[in-house]
Amino acid sequence: MVSCRYCQKKINPDDAIELFDRHYVCSDACRIAYEQTDMYDKDKLLDIAWNLCGKTGDFIRLKSQAEYYHSEYKYKYSGMLYTINYWSNIEGNSWNDAYGLGQIFPQYYEKALKYWHNQQELKKKCRTASSEEIKPKTVTVGVNIANRRANRFKINIEDL
Ligand SMILES: [Zn+2]
Repeated sequence: MVSCRYCQKKINPDDAIELFDRHYVCSDACRIAYEQTDMYDKDKLLDIAWNLCGKTGDFIRLKSQAEYYHSEYKYKYSGMLYTINYWSNIEGNSWNDAYGLGQIFPQYYEKALKYWHNQQELKKKCRTASSEEIKPKTVTVGVNIANRRANRFKINIEDL
C-alpha cells in the first residue's frame, strides 16, 4: 500500500496516480490540491535534485540543504523549484555531487527570479502589442556559408 501525498489515504499502488518517483495521490482532486501546496514544491525540488544526482546521492543531505535555504534565506520552495529548473534547463549547468544544492543556492536564486520576472514582462508585452508589432518576420542568419545552403538558415522569429 502507498499513501496519498495529499489526504494520506492508504491506496493500492495499482489504483494510485504516480506523479513522480514514489509520490502518489489517490485522485485527480488530490493531485490538483497537492500541486498547490508548499509540500509539492519541496517534494518536486528534491525529486529533480535526486534525478540530477542519478538517484545515487545522499538524499537526507539534499533535504536538509533545501530546508536550510528555506529557513535561513527565507527562500520559497516554489522559487527554489523554479531556480533548479532554470539552473539546469536555461543555464544548462551540470550537477556536481560534491556540492549538492549548494551549487545552486544561494547564488542562482535571485538570478532565476530576475529571469522569471523578465519572462513575465515579455508575456505581458506580447499580450498588449498590436498585431502589427507581433507579425512574424523572417530573418536570414549565417555568415560564410554557400548561397545554395542559405535557405536552410531562414528562421521564423516566432520559433525562437
Ligand atoms: Zn488523496
